[in-house]
Amino acid sequence: MLIRLRKKLAAGELELVLDLARELALVPRFLDPEREFLELSGPGRPEHRSRFEDLAGVHAVLDVGASRELHERTPGRADTQVQVGAARFGGGAVSLIAGPCAIESVERTLEIARAVADRGALALRGGAFKPRTSPYSFQGSRAKGLEMLERARVETGLAIVTEVLDPRDVELVGEVADMFQIGSRNMFNAPLLLEVGRTRKPVLLKRGFMASLREFVLAAEYILSAGNGQVVLCERGVRSFDSTARNMLDVGGVAWLKRHTHLPVIVDPSHAAGRGDLVRPLARAGLAAGADGLIVEVHPNPSEVHSDGNQAISPAEFELLAQDARALVALDGRHLVSATPLAARTGS
Ligand code: PEP
Ligand code: MN
Repeated sequence: MLIRLRKKLAAGELELVLDLARELALVPRFLDPEREFLELSGPGRPEHRSRFEDLAGVHAVLDVGASRELHERTPGRADTQVQVGAARFGGGAVSLIAGPCAIESVERTLEIARAVADRGALALRGGAFKPRTSPYSFQGSRAKGLEMLERARVETGLAIVTEVLDPRDVELVGEVADMFQIGSRNMFNAPLLLEVGRTRKPVLLKRGFMASLREFVLAAEYILSAGNGQVVLCERGVRSFDSTARNMLDVGGVAWLKRHTHLPVIVDPSHAAGRGDLVRPLARAGLAAGADGLIVEVHPNPSEVHSDGNQAISPAEFELLAQDARALVALDGRHLVSATPLAARTGS
């Protein structure tokens, strides 16, 4: 590891750095006469980096050496692939997740599930527990919504992706979810991240709308460090100065995440756009930047829904988006994972 110390250290600050090095069995050596650059050699561990960064005398950790964090792509390391039902993300496999924002009625849930399954989705999204900005907005149909998702899984064979808001609900939601969704508002919720990290179910971690990429990968690190390696990162747009779109899709962030981590990265063009007409172009941009999949809000009649109606696209528009995805990912040698026929999936 290579550390840059602050120029004017207060009394005792250097000793704290050297004490920590000793405690971690790392051997310190200054590289310059000004004693600003400190090399630490020895057996590195993922947690060493943050421990040095926390010290007042440390300006920056310049090279982590062997102390790589669990999300980091070590040289030559292949993509981690995460499987959710028939969907696969990473390692050249691209899959689509689609469905309503919230689960509202059983009829609509089944109708949308069938529509997206027929048009290329392998997983159904839909919140039973909704993280609304206002406590007075619709909060989701909760346990009833989970039952509706279960029915949709049985009838269509789609995997279920649904949000969990509270560590106390992880067990309940896990009875139905094939993949836990951690929403943007909860990306910093360490107890929740640790709780899903203790399960062995895939986790879709959405980027906080005000989170830096470093904060995003450290949120993933919470889940990984608790023992769950099945994490898919989701870029869903960050807050910007411009309110034309709901958020600003960080396409550069997608490209960086693909290089910096071995984890699959998907894009949510719906919450980035906040309006239906921008969903398809943003989906294309995300895939072109290297995304391993998309999660998209689809609804046949957006005017009737309680949440995010403006950004829902129709099943017909979703079909076009799936066609785009198939063609785009083939350009760089990847493939859109496609469904086996419904009868084979449900065994009927
Ligand atoms: C959602 O997926 O419906 C949702 C609430 O998304 P986000 O957490 O990204 O706002
Ligand atoms: Mn939504």
